[in-house]
Amino acid sequence: MEKRAAIIGGGLGGLSAAIHLRHAGFDVTIFEANERVGGRANLIERDGFSFDTGPSLLNYPWVFEKLFALTGRRLQDYVTLLPVEPSVTFQWPDGTRFTLSSDVQRLIEECERLEPKSGPGLIAFLRDTRSKFEIAFDKLVTKNADSYVRWLSGVSPMDLLRLRLWRSFYKELGRFFKSRYIREALGSYGMYLGGSPFDLPGLFSILPYGELTYGLWLPKGGVYGLVRGIDRLARELGVTIRTGCTVQEILTNGASVKGVMLEDGSITEFPVVVSNVDVPTTDSVLLHRSGRGNHRLNGVSRLKMTPSVMTFYWGVRGNVDLLPHHTIFLPGEYRSTFDELMKRGVIPQEIPFYVSLPSSTDPGLAPPGDTTMFVLVPLPLLSQLGEVDWHSTVRSIRQRVLDRLRWHGVVLSEDRIAVEEVMTPVDWERRFGLFDGSAFGASHTLFQMGPGRYRNYSRTIKGMYYTGASTTPGTGMPMVVLSGKMTAERILHALR
Ligand SMILES: Cc1cc2nc3c(=O)[nH]c(=O)nc-3n(C[C@H](O)[C@H](O)[C@H](O)COP(=O)(O)OP(=O)(O)OC[C@H]3O[C@@H](n4cnc5c(N)ncnc54)[C@H](O)[C@@H]3O)c2cc1C
Repeated sequence: MEKRAAIIGGGLGGLSAAIHLRHAGFDVTIFEANERVGGRANLIERDGFSFDTGPSLLNYPWVFEKLFALTGRRLQDYVTLLPVEPSVTFQWPDGTRFTLSSDVQRLIEECERLEPKSGPGLIAFLRDTRSKFEIAFDKLVTKNADSYVRWLSGVSPMDLLRLRLWRSFYKELGRFFKSRYIREALGSYGMYLGGSPFDLPGLFSILPYGELTYGLWLPKGGVYGLVRGIDRLARELGVTIRTGCTVQEILTNGASVKGVMLEDGSITEFPVVVSNVDVPTTDSVLLHRSGRGNHRLNGVSRLKMTPSVMTFYWGVRGNVDLLPHHTIFLPGEYRSTFDELMKRGVIPQEIPFYVSLPSSTDPGLAPPGDTTMFVLVPLPLLSQLGEVDWHSTVRSIRQRVLDRLRWHGVVLSEDRIAVEEVMTPVDWERRFGLFDGSAFGASHTLFQMGPGRYRNYSRTIKGMYYTGASTTPGTGMPMVVLSGKMTAERILHALR
């Protein structure tokens, strides 16, 4: 096979696949529809304010260190990571607050404030999740395996028991904590994967562990500072990046991939095509005509997707008191809110939301003395919402966010919001090709993990590969960087 590959989409998964393939001697071209790479991790710049469009919580920094180390470089020569400590604060409507920290003593004190004598439970939780984390990362997460037998081959029956795959994340937390507040706070990490703690497997208690142990970070210049560093690395290695280039179709020749056709009708042939566009969008749109999309799951509609989001970007005059860098506002009725959002597919009565003030860690993201503010409101998928009047829905959700903030003493008068941008689920779908407006891609249910997850190669089209959040191993910035590595490994394996 000729060592030439097209990568459709310059999201973090696409960039990672490009770097890995280039490092292995491939001639690589990225075709990115938007004006800049980064995908969901994009950038809005207005009047001196710098907003990250999507991801704002960076964890597992070692994944990025390894990406740079692969090419003999050091992450810190490209990106400065600023620690965010304490990390995330949770607030409930009854006024309860809970703040996480990677300082264990501080965390014990915080847990014991909500649940007296919960310190030993916390230590047991950290020990348990550490062993799960090690099993998951050493033996499962980055393993390209096509069957459960092969996937689990290195895992002992004892390890398998420890992973608690069959128990819900929320129930698993109940083994260590009685306080509903601690369980709800840690359980809401499921939202990182766009999932409900009542549905995600207990294995995902590794999410808070990873953050508490390896810390939470903000790249200098915002998350886009990290994207800039990875973009620079890819270009230095000789990856060709063509922005403003929308691929209209992936061309096939019988049962092999042939190349890509751009919107202007131009065709470039490639023996290998990697799509970083959301998997179900790739199959239903870009591979539509070939009729050979990877329909292993019996058609894309069978894929369970994570919810959508509405995001607000506010450039605020002055400081925003009482809010730390990251705050999650949880509802009073936790379970029914997740049910409304994920099962019934309606906008919850009490909307939970997340607020980030990145300029409190990196003041360079706002004009001197001002504040960059990001608000993320999870919403049902577009297909669940049906017909929506987005103008009035944005207004009503915005008001509910401002009211809830006021309830907690954070008063944001209209005249202080100097800059405002909003992205609805429709914008997320259109701008980045996110299927059904799903923000995080395919869900991480028990049967959409490992070999059950959408494969990173096509079984029917030779030379056709996938990378990114909806394929393996899953969503989130570190995971899609690992996804790029796994896809490159598949391609190199096929070359042998
Ligand atoms: C609002 C939000 C908040 C999030 N918060 C976090 C967080 O705090 N921490 C975290 O780790 N993760 C977070 N995530 C998840 C994380 O952003 C994603 O998992 C990850 O960035 C997805 O990367 P990807 O490789 O799948 O590519 P994507 O980001 O999906 O990029 C795909 C690229 O393909 C391009 N494209 C689409 N169609 C075409 C076409 N036809 N031709 C050419 N190019 C095309 C798109 O423009 C895009 O650049 C968040 C996601 C969202 C939406």
